[in-house]
Amino acid sequence: MIIAVDGTAASGKGTLARRLAAHYRLPHLDTGLLYRAVGRKMLDNGSDFADTDAAIALAQNFAPAWLVDGRLRGNEASVAASRVAAIPAVRTALRAFQQQFAGQPGGAVLDGRDIGTVIAPNADIKLWVTATPEVRARRRFLELKPKRPDLEEGTILDELIERDNRDAPNMTMAPDAYLLDTSQMDIEQVFRSAVEYIDGRRKA
Ligand code: C5P
Repeated sequence: MIIAVDGTAASGKGTLARRLAAHYRLPHLDTGLLYRAVGRKMLDNGSDFADTDAAIALAQNFAPAWLVDGRLRGNEASVAASRVAAIPAVRTALRAFQQQFAGQPGGAVLDGRDIGTVIAPNADIKLWVTATPEVRARRRFLELKPKRPDLEEGTILDELIERDNRDAPNMTMAPDAYLLDTSQMDIEQVFRSAVEYIDGRRKA
């Protein structure tokens, strides 16, 4: 069973994907980490983001060991990720790794932006997770505030909208995806709703 969990930034898709993977005992890949790893290398190398050749060369040499870097979760890496993710050849270079992961025996859960459309268009289950930008910015703000008391919610909202716009060309809800708008839901409700849908599909 391949479960594709796509959606917008800070929508709760990562947490949902992890919970589903544990529930159905499937391996999980957070595909955002691949783009974050390439973006992080660009920052570490002091590369200019306009230098698309540098980003492409990094993506072509991507190694899974790059995913083990505590700095990938940070805000800096997420902005860098969305910049390299906008380069078509970077996306192409990172495709085989994701497709191999999705194709492993028994299946897998992958979360990202284009899993149900590009990486695994034949996925058994496709979920699209989103929430209003204001709700997503609030969640991110509450999560980051303890470590960064100087951070303003408005700045996060602006960054989120900017990232949504940059991601838009590569972020499409598959026509056969199940929409989960988490604006008014907590993670428990989101998880239960997803499991109900998945179990219903499996029975059918
Ligand atoms: O999901 P996450 O916030 O970690 O993703 C970071 C960035 O990586 C996204 O803003 C997007 O630009 C890019 N991304 C992508 N395709 C994916 C996963 C992430 O373009 N499948």
